[in-house]
Amino acid sequence: MNFYKNTLTNMNKAAKLMDLDQETLDTLSHPQKTLMVTLPVRMDDGHMEYFEAYRVQHSELRGPFKGGIRYFPNVDLNEIKALATEMTFKCAVAGIPYGGGKGGVCCNAKEMSEGELERLTRKYVQAVYQIIGPNHDIPAPDMYTTPQMMAWFMDEYSRLVNQYSPGVVTGKPIEVGGSLGRGTATAQGGAYILEEYMKRHNMEIEGVKVIVQGFGNAGSYAAEILHGMGFTIIGVSDSKGGVYNDDGMDPFHIMKSKKEKGSVQNYDEGTNCTNEELIEKSCDILVLAAMENQVTEENMKNIKTKIILELANGPTTAEADEYLSKQGVVVIPDILANSGGVTVSYFEWLQNQQAYYWPEEEVQTKLKRVMIESLVRILDFQNKHKCTMRQAAYISAFDRLDKTKKLRGSGAHLRCKDYYK
Ligand code: GLU
Repeated sequence: MNFYKNTLTNMNKAAKLMDLDQETLDTLSHPQKTLMVTLPVRMDDGHMEYFEAYRVQHSELRGPFKGGIRYFPNVDLNEIKALATEMTFKCAVAGIPYGGGKGGVCCNAKEMSEGELERLTRKYVQAVYQIIGPNHDIPAPDMYTTPQMMAWFMDEYSRLVNQYSPGVVTGKPIEVGGSLGRGTATAQGGAYILEEYMKRHNMEIEGVKVIVQGFGNAGSYAAEILHGMGFTIIGVSDSKGGVYNDDGMDPFHIMKSKKEKGSVQNYDEGTNCTNEELIEKSCDILVLAAMENQVTEENMKNIKTKIILELANGPTTAEADEYLSKQGVVVIPDILANSGGVTVSYFEWLQNQQAYYWPEEEVQTKLKRVMIESLVRILDFQNKHKCTMRQAAYISAFDRLDKTKKLRGSGAHLRCKDYYK
């Protein structure tokens, strides 16, 4: 499945349902700017390696471009365009004053040393620093990029512009201007949504069985947070495979075991399975926290769950989404479910702008409010248009984007001076 086409399909479906102005749809169907570069990086053994890197600036209608950077072997322009587009919609869903962007480097971060990753990150900043900035484009972590890399990013950018600039990137460690609660924000935001959704539908947490695909930043914290709330975690997986136990497992213990064994597999109290097998097992809630294109036309008929919570970006294709919704499966879409990450990125950026840092409690209260308001607005649109939750989420975003575009007038979406530099 072509990820960018899939995103356009989601947009088109929602646009049709709400009878969106064609010009707004057309404008948002084209990323504003795309940068493709090659980064030459000196490897530890002395040879020079050449990495393809991207930054796609999709839309700055509602504010500076915002979105993470991923380091992953299958990164290509199509994927980054899709992810950048999704960021525009995600920020609009959350009602935060940002547009959307995304970056990526085609590399295998797992096999690179700390020094190689630092040199790669600094090279990336050197390639993009003229088109980013705290009021222009603000990157963040994504797959296989870490708070440490964001610290190097901030350091290199500050050096190049000769000005301490913590607000150029979010997801930084606390000591270099990060926000409390950013590390867990994607998972925590998803948990707030799930809790509120279940409350509104009179569903109990007790005895509810959860499977989490992906054990990175989003998935591992999701398993821990949901376990802490009283859900039963019956399966988890990482890139090497999954582990399963219908009686429930403690994700904190799985994390400990993963640190020793290099994978969630071979955990003492579970049985190994493949990633494909894991997501087809029967459960009440399936948390997709790995990557795009996991539930597709090929396996959608085998999915045996009641709710899918998308913490990854694009894990369910448009066809699978529609099919599952028809079967009565509630798919809580990525642009809502994982928007807690970028929302706390926004809080981090606000704190950087003010050089004044908030206690964790304030971050959590504000995050919870944004998540619940976004959900309620989407449920209202869903009720009005009788559509899937994903379509309602796109409608919620389009509604804001369309109003902004009309208020800004015909000059909107075009930077003048220096834009083509
Ligand atoms: N990479 C995350 C996402 O896909 C976070 C983006 C951000 O914080 O800017 O939403």
